[in-house]
Amino acid sequence: MSSCNNCGKTILFGGRTVAAKRYCGAGCAARHPLLQMAGQVPGHVLQEYVQRWRVGACPRCRRQGPIDVYEHHRVHSFVLLTQWHTRRDVCCRRCGRRSQIGSALYSAALGWWGFPWGLLITPIQVARNLTGVFRAAPGTATPAFERVVRLQLAQNAIQNAGQTSSATPPALP
Ligand SMILES: [Zn+2]
Ligand SMILES: [Zn+2]
Repeated sequence: MSSCNNCGKTILFGGRTVAAKRYCGAGCAARHPLLQMAGQVPGHVLQEYVQRWRVGACPRCRRQGPIDVYEHHRVHSFVLLTQWHTRRDVCCRRCGRRSQIGSALYSAALGWWGFPWGLLITPIQVARNLTGVFRAAPGTATPAFERVVRLQLAQNAIQNAGQTSSATPPALP
């Protein structure tokens, strides 16, 4: 069994192969050139931009960084239907915490009303958010942030192909 080179999802059936890399579907397969380019960003260039962008302004509140990738987790239910997901935002710790508190409240209010998944998933999502709220800010850039920078540099390189324009900081996802 293989997993998608873009989103990490396990590929049960189908999927696509581009240059020996597996993708879960057309959407992820379309990102192959970007991912190839991202894999080729030299380590010292990556580190330079990680350091520079990390201390930049928060894309959300415009306050001075450090910024990183912060996750928050939601679940909502309607009788037999329960849906849950994780979102990753590039922002400062303050904004990240605000999203985690918001999603903990959202899940606590809307997650329970489904059987059986709502009852099972709601405490997990609330706990994951609260763990995030109380976790200390990372002292150095997380691998998730490095990945965002890598992809942004690749995107800039593709857009500026042929030019020698400078890179721009990561946009809001
Ligand atoms: Zn995928
Ligand atoms: Zn912020």
